Amino acid sequence: MKNLLMKIYRALYKAYGPRHWWPGETPFEVMVGAILTQNTSWKNVEKAIQKLKNKGFLSAEGIRQLRKSQLAPLIRSSGYYRIKADRLKAFVSFLFEEYNGDLKKMRRERMETLREKLLEVKGVGPETADSILLYGLKKPIFVVDAYTKRILSRHGIISEQASYGEIQDLFMNHLPPDERLFNEYHALLVHLGKTACRKIPRCDSCPLKEIKCLK
Ligand code: SF4
Repeated sequence: MKNLLMKIYRALYKAYGPRHWWPGETPFEVMVGAILTQNTSWKNVEKAIQKLKNKGFLSAEGIRQLRKSQLAPLIRSSGYYRIKADRLKAFVSFLFEEYNGDLKKMRRERMETLREKLLEVKGVGPETADSILLYGLKKPIFVVDAYTKRILSRHGIISEQASYGEIQDLFMNHLPPDERLFNEYHALLVHLGKTACRKIPRCDSCPLKEIKCLK
């Protein structure tokens, strides 16, 4: 399995090169992006982040001092903005309660412990928690998303019913715990899912067309 996973990685890297994901000037910006990107396109998230930045509120302290009713209109472009305002406030409260608002202190927490705590924050599910850990804090955890599931199941590597945890274990049990590898691998799968492995797959022009595929 390790060989197959690395073969896929190398084929994607060769075709697409480094993806430089996740875009963000600071770890906090990455974390805000991870929360805002739920159920929307990245383009819409970027607009919301830019607005927060322009108004000087793109920091843990900045979001803490805003009321939900003030925060929501600033992130309107990201969709479900009232719910997301709630989630951002919950995340920032957690950050202050547990780590005094200090991301360095947060990063020093054991990854498994921190993941458990993040999953208890309102609106933070596995994909968001893992994106915060991997892309925000550079912890070696594999992020799974709908693209990952679609690509692997189309190649018969997992079943269509595989759970988030099962897919994550597949990568983490067979690859070295390398944050940079996990970062790049996830980003490459996202790019593949957006370009070739779409709802209707474009296998003829796909870098994985030589890899055993069941579709
Ligand atoms: S587009 Fe086809 S070859 Fe490419 S990953 Fe999807 S199923 Fe596989």
